[in-house]
Amino acid sequence: MKITFGKYDGKTLEQILLTDPAYVRQILSVSDPDDDLKAVIAEAWRMIELFEAKPLTGMCYKINCGKAATRIFLYIGSPALTFWCDKCDPYSRGATQGKLREVKEYLDVEDYVARYFKGRKSDLQVIFRAVLEAKEGPKPVTERAAKAFFS
Ligand SMILES: [Zn+2]
Repeated sequence: MKITFGKYDGKTLEQILLTDPAYVRQILSVSDPDDDLKAVIAEAWRMIELFEAKPLTGMCYKINCGKAATRIFLYIGSPALTFWCDKCDPYSRGATQGKLREVKEYLDVEDYVARYFKGRKSDLQVIFRAVLEAKEGPKPVTERAAKAFFS
């Protein structure tokens, strides 16, 4: 879907979703959207569901587990992702209790950066990029590659 407004005029929604989650949140948060924007928002939510359903490619971080990772956790204040299967305790490699945050839904990355990195764009880029990579997202995010990711 092509966007015809704002700073991404001419770009596709697929590309925006894979490069700028902060802007996606802005779109989703518009309080009284017109019909065109309503259609964009509905399509964005549909694609977010597809994004969230994409499996992770890495293995669980628990030593000797050997299972595929299904969950991503970050240590508060760190941009580094750790990957865990459904069964293993993400604290089992020594993280202090209460210090891990799960990044589960699309908007969780933006939440995490807003809360622990003062919403800094550069940190959001690094962390979101890593999440996308874990889901075998395209690099670079061309129009065609973004479309393929969501189809
Ligand atoms: Zn495991």
